[in-house]
Amino acid sequence: MTDADTPFWQRKTLQELTPEEWESLCDGCTKCCLYRLEDEDTHVIHYTNVRCYLLDPDTGRCTDYPNRSQRVPDCVTITPAVLENPYWLPTTCAYRRLAEGRALPRWHPLRTGDPRTVVAAGQRACLRSICEDDAGPLEQHLVDWFE
Ligand code: SF4
Repeated sequence: MTDADTPFWQRKTLQELTPEEWESLCDGCTKCCLYRLEDEDTHVIHYTNVRCYLLDPDTGRCTDYPNRSQRVPDCVTITPAVLENPYWLPTTCAYRRLAEGRALPRWHPLRTGDPRTVVAAGQRACLRSICEDDAGPLEQHLVDWFE
C-alpha cells in the first residue's frame, strides 16, 4: 500500500487536516448536542436525553451552526487544542478517537461511504431525545445509552 492509498485520517495528524477533512470527521451522531452532567470529583460524564434547542432532530444538524457559540455559550467548538484531554466527548466521537490514537468506528461514514450507517448502527442520539425547552430538570433525564 502506498501513502496515497492510506486514508487521510490515518496519514495525517489532526493539525494537518484541511477544513473539509476536519468537518468530515463528524459522523453526525449528535451525542455532543445532548446535555451531560459531570461528576466534579471523578469527572465521570453522565448523559441525558435532552438535546440543545438548536438541534433539528429530524436532520441531526444544528439549525444555526455558524452562530452556535454565540447563541449557546456552553457549545464547545472542537479544535485540536481542546482535544488534549477529550474525556468529555463520547467514546465513539471521531475527534476523540483520533486524538487518542484509535481507529474510527466500523459504522463511520468515512469507512462505509454511507452516512446512513450511523443511524443503522443505532448511533444517532437525537432520534431518542427531547428538546431542552420541554425537559425540566436534567437530573430526571439521565440515560445509559452510550459506551
Ligand atoms: S460527538 Fe463527535 S462525531 Fe458525534 S456529532 Fe459530536 S463532534 Fe460529531
